[in-house]
Amino acid sequence: MSSFHLTDSGKKLVTFIPGDGIGPEVTGSARRIIEATGAPIAWEDREAGEAVFKKGLPSGVPVETIESIKKTKVALKGPLGTPVGFGEKSANVTLRKLFETYGNIRPVRTLPGVPTAFAHKAIDLVIVRENVEDLYAGIEYMQTPGVAEALKVISRKGCEKIVRLAFEFARAEGRKKVHCATKSNIMKMTEGTLKRTFEAVAPEYPEIKAEHIIVDNCAHQLVRFPEWFDVIVMTNMNGDILSDMTSGLIGGLGFAPSANIGGEHAIFEAVHGSAPKYAGKNVINPTAVIFASVMMLRHLGEFEAASAIENSVVATLEDGKFRTRDIQGDEGSCSTTAYTDAIIANLGRKPARTFVRDYKPMRLPQVPAAPDFVKAKERKVAGADVFVEWTGAVDALGKGLEGAAQGSPFKLHMVTSRGTKLYPGGSAVTDTVDAFTGRFVKLDGGDTSDAELLDLLARVGAKVRWTHVEKLNVFDGAPGYTKAQGED
Ligand code: NAP
Repeated sequence: MSSFHLTDSGKKLVTFIPGDGIGPEVTGSARRIIEATGAPIAWEDREAGEAVFKKGLPSGVPVETIESIKKTKVALKGPLGTPVGFGEKSANVTLRKLFETYGNIRPVRTLPGVPTAFAHKAIDLVIVRENVEDLYAGIEYMQTPGVAEALKVISRKGCEKIVRLAFEFARAEGRKKVHCATKSNIMKMTEGTLKRTFEAVAPEYPEIKAEHIIVDNCAHQLVRFPEWFDVIVMTNMNGDILSDMTSGLIGGLGFAPSANIGGEHAIFEAVHGSAPKYAGKNVINPTAVIFASVMMLRHLGEFEAASAIENSVVATLEDGKFRTRDIQGDEGSCSTTAYTDAIIANLGRKPARTFVRDYKPMRLPQVPAAPDFVKAKERKVAGADVFVEWTGAVDALGKGLEGAAQGSPFKLHMVTSRGTKLYPGGSAVTDTVDAFTGRFVKLDGGDTSDAELLDLLARVGAKVRWTHVEKLNVFDGAPGYTKAQGED
């Protein structure tokens, strides 16, 4: 563990960001408990979020905070609010992206004395969510005044990192099963890349059962039989939605921790936000951040302190004497401070009835840094999809685009709108919008030069307003583009 920053007294330095709203209370509780274990941790206090936005810094993350995490490589942070009206970007997303924390690990488990609709189920599962790609890269465009588009960017490299992280985490916790949940039946290229990567990597972990599941069925089975699942790896948006749902299965956001893992840096936090209405009231549940700090201590190699805290939290919940408002209601609930004191008093105890896992050190995935992670031996551009704005009849557009291609090395293959083929041959669709795509292919089946493509755009542009272009790439003989709905 020599890669962490050590203080002169040999302690591991951690960047501490209290956060907004209830952040200082929940992170303060976790910090007190860590200090009570005697673990060799020192803190570097830094700020991010609302106070920083208010000072006029649009990112919400000052350079001192970035420099601190660069140095310590580990941060424990409270939730950061994204105020409406000032501040442009989410400071959380900025931190995740700046440190390329590609993986988000979100464990949930049934806890003693925590009332839920699923309390009779033995839930103990982990969602490993891709954290920087997918629709959440936030690359959006207006194609026409009334048609919006978002790019779902998924890389083989990103998939390889997240899949390996899921298997390594499963191995560290002695887990037996990893599911990969995707929508690859519909999105064969983007979601399909995760599925194919999962199937390629899984044989390297023969002791772990690997299974693919369609993500909507996964949501359904998670509610019916949550005890079936162990580790589930997903793309960013699917993982975001399903991990909030799994938090609900085990008693709510007060119990759901999260670790943002990068190649070199890691940021530990709760899944929940800053819950501003409870700020400063000393009533909220700090367990999510306490469990996040257990994950942080394991990441830092402080296994004994991590297990001591985990055992103490579970023992405290088993006792049932100190219950925060979210699980007890107003009557008879304890303060955040009293709950924290009880956990500190219980350090050294083990739960009497509840299973707690053994944890072995996790090996962080090593994936080559080369940007061209996948290389093609052969490639060509078989044509182009030209996206156009059009309010008239589809047949008229199709004939116009055929005319535009006349005399060029291309022919119009079809016209689509929102992924459905409309010309030639028509479709049952009578309702259209003003965004269409003309797919042009090379007449000789060969490669397309940029000069040919620019000439094609000029020809199309003379007839109709074009909005954007996608090349029809073919890599090693495999089309790098999808067919349209209704295309044979
Ligand atoms: P939230 O802060 O997570 O709060 C939603 C509700 O969850 C609360 O009203 C409360 O429910 C419950 N809750 C959350 N944390 C709890 C805890 N520790 N103990 C007990 N109950 C807890 O979500 P939000 O209100 O949508 O977001 C507020 C702000 O946080 C926003 O500015 C958002 O952008 C930000 N946010 C930050 C992060 C992050 O930093 N990672 C994540 C999410 C949101 P009841 O009302 O039922 O008591």
